[in-house]
Amino acid sequence: MFSDELAKISWEDTTALIHSKSSRDVEAALSKEILDVDDFMALISPAALPYIEVMAQKAQYYTQERFGKVISMYIPLYLSNACTNFCVYCGFQYPNKIKRTTLTPEQIKAECEAIRELGPFENLLIVTGEFPSVAGVDYLENALRIARPYFNNLSIEVMPLKQQDYYRLTKSGLNGVVCFQETYHKDRYKVYHPHGMKSNFEWRLNGYDRMGASGVHKLGVGVLIGLEDWRTDITMMAYHLRYLQKHYWRTRFSVNFPRMRPAEGHFQPNVVMTDKELAQVTFAFRLFDHDVDISYSTRESPKFRANMMKLGVTSMSAGSKTEPGGYVSTPEALEQFVVSDERTPAEVVAEIRSLGYEAVWKDWDKIFD
Ligand code: SF4
Repeated sequence: MFSDELAKISWEDTTALIHSKSSRDVEAALSKEILDVDDFMALISPAALPYIEVMAQKAQYYTQERFGKVISMYIPLYLSNACTNFCVYCGFQYPNKIKRTTLTPEQIKAECEAIRELGPFENLLIVTGEFPSVAGVDYLENALRIARPYFNNLSIEVMPLKQQDYYRLTKSGLNGVVCFQETYHKDRYKVYHPHGMKSNFEWRLNGYDRMGASGVHKLGVGVLIGLEDWRTDITMMAYHLRYLQKHYWRTRFSVNFPRMRPAEGHFQPNVVMTDKELAQVTFAFRLFDHDVDISYSTRESPKFRANMMKLGVTSMSAGSKTEPGGYVSTPEALEQFVVSDERTPAEVVAEIRSLGYEAVWKDWDKIFD
């Protein structure tokens, strides 16, 4: 389990190592074709900021070499904002007195139809809060079955499950799982997640092992930027990715670096990552791993997304609603966070084309399941 590996890595030593990196370390990393985590640390260090143009060019080269000039499109579907957790940064946290909504089977169907009206989406990300008695495995299985006729690729971003439950859902159409560890700092994790299932650091951290062992086709990993030192957190994620690739080599992986957005609850981020720093991390990750899918959501602004789609990003959401039933059923429900890119999918695709890229709606067929 990755918790055993993480226990051997000191947070403090890693932070110190990143900040000790020099221009010589950066140049050494840039001269290599295959990078290890130590090289990655150099590329996300402050010492690498003067090299950002070189990093951008190399990131663009590797991305076009492996992916071509394409952006894979996906869209989230929030099914429930019921949650038993107390994540201090989230508007859906249990103590918040908000209207809780969990979509009925009829509403899920209506949402799927409304999404298909928005654009020819084939990659759907189903999202729920963590409330097993309301949106548990039976509910998810039914939702996957309802969505299956409308979409060729189904992923979930829900509570971490048991291995047998992931396996069971793959039999009902599940192709991918996205899960954010939020932070790899074990002690601080407890401060952000004081109660509820999510307060169990190891259960979440080792969830990726359960996903990999169950044969889920694609795993998405990520940390929430705004909690702890992002350089250290993303380095831990790089260690985690390498571990998962070694153990679950049949699986595809994606990485996400979501920056905290305003939400009900008014949590102020502890750290801020600038656009330049997010670009640096994106380039560094592409140099570290030429094949990993790098995903940007509508949390990021249209201008920034347009710049980054040429330099390392390979998948994007568009037209997203982050409230359950937001496409047609209950658009007045509370959204999890305020999106930054509010354009329609057609507008996003027009921009992708104007930049000489192609929007890819379908990159998986259910016949492969
Ligand atoms: S981040 Fe997820 S688990 Fe935490 S309160 Fe929000 S919906 Fe619940």
